Amino acid sequence: MSSLIQKEIYLDNAATTQMAAPVEEAMRPFLREKFGNASTMYGYGETAREAMEAARVQIARSLEASPSEIFFTSGGSESDNWAIKGIAGAKKAEGCHLITTKIEHHAVLNSCAYLEKLGYQVTYLDVDAYGQVSPEAVAAAIRPDTTLISVMFGNNEIGTIEPVMQIGKIAREHKVLFHTDAVQAYAQLPISVRQYPVDLLSASAHKFHGPKGVGFLYVREGTLLPSFIHGGGQERGKRAGTENIAGIVGMGKAAELAFSDLRQRIRRETMLRNYMMEKITHEIPGSRINGHRTKRLPGNVNVSFKNVDGASLLILLEEDGICASGGSACNTGESRVSYVIEAIGAQEEYAAGTIRMTLCGQTTRQDVDLTVESLKQNVKRLRV
Ligand SMILES: *Cc1c(COP(=O)(O)O)cnc(C)c1O
Repeated sequence: MSSLIQKEIYLDNAATTQMAAPVEEAMRPFLREKFGNASTMYGYGETAREAMEAARVQIARSLEASPSEIFFTSGGSESDNWAIKGIAGAKKAEGCHLITTKIEHHAVLNSCAYLEKLGYQVTYLDVDAYGQVSPEAVAAAIRPDTTLISVMFGNNEIGTIEPVMQIGKIAREHKVLFHTDAVQAYAQLPISVRQYPVDLLSASAHKFHGPKGVGFLYVREGTLLPSFIHGGGQERGKRAGTENIAGIVGMGKAAELAFSDLRQRIRRETMLRNYMMEKITHEIPGSRINGHRTKRLPGNVNVSFKNVDGASLLILLEEDGICASGGSACNTGESRVSYVIEAIGAQEEYAAGTIRMTLCGQTTRQDVDLTVESLKQNVKRLRV
């Protein structure tokens, strides 16, 4: 991890990533010299506006979308909230039923829960033992009053990649809009909106070595999504508020970097991930990998250790300088078993001993070796 500031082995890239140095460099001029408001007409504003539109082109290109389909937001949570509450509200006259899954991020689950309080009905689909939702179950759940299906691209805890292509086709056949939370998958997998029949897609910069507090929502041309933040006319009247120029520029740069070596990075990270999963299951008795073996985000390792307390294991790992997490970052502090681990039906004696380690482009084989060695010793310690 030579390029990381920390001495630690950082294996929590699904929680957040370290901003890449070129991203910081790209942002810096917009924090002071180029401080203009993109909505003003003189030079400062034009500089900001041009930089913002260049970032929009970068993001659009990465998805094979059109720049007019990209809306900047404050991150993944806002994008999810906007897509779900926005479509639910806009389509209220057509129906008040939504379909999602039990393993979505809380930004999706709690948006749905909020809508339920307003009188909407939400179907939360089960997933199989690998964390996949079946397209047939999606089809069976569609009712005449269904207006939106929201299924994540890749799960943040167990890394499982959902059958987005098939679900999108089903949504199309039934003329139901389809949103996917791609916060974990964007810049980790190639995603083209020309190939994938998705109408709305959420992403967040800090998950791909960009800055925190900025993300985007892709909205397919012709999709009627109302404005979520009301005020000025920014983002073509859809999302008010003076734009976060530095953040947007940083996200554009992060996307450019991420996509410049995507295939290579996927190959390398997948190999390292498989090596780590195999090493753990071979060297540590009573260990089980959660999630799908192959339909899996490149950097995700999620493992359960029989009769081990996961929270205690994380503390021991930290003492060895290793940052990992239990389930998602948003659930830390709660000692109960993750709802995702519950949804895949993990056995009780394994469920509580679940930890997630997420790699990035800077993770080395040595990091993996040291981590597995630490796991081996600490799991043994906790079992006596
Ligand atoms: C991190 C994450 C989010 C939230 O994104 P923020 O930018 O942190 O608000 C939403 N969905 C998934 C799957 C995530 O991993």
